[in-house]
Amino acid sequence: MRKALWAAGFRYRLKNRLPGRPDIVFPGKRLAVFVDGCFWHRCPRHCRVPTTNREFWENKLGKNVQRDKDVKMLLERQGWEVVRFWEHEIKESVSKCVERVSLLIG
Ligand SMILES: [Zn+2]
Repeated sequence: MRKALWAAGFRYRLKNRLPGRPDIVFPGKRLAVFVDGCFWHRCPRHCRVPTTNREFWENKLGKNVQRDKDVKMLLERQGWEVVRFWEHEIKESVSKCVERVSLLIG
């Protein structure tokens, strides 16, 4: 994803102190990009909660999802636009993801 964005001519930053530590940041455009792992962020298509220790996992993954929401709200309140990609979207088509980012950046 990062390589593809860079190759497409987008200049971004990785290091940042923003809430939730976005994976990629475009400071000039105030755009924060997150790439969410399908398991850890409960992708509806791929996340299967393990059957052993089910309660532990439900709890842990539920917290992740809640944190994602909180982070989005915090960033938006600070004037950032937030884009989230699933890991599987990147794997399926990096170019589509790059396109989405480029539309937002304009
Ligand atoms: Zn997925």
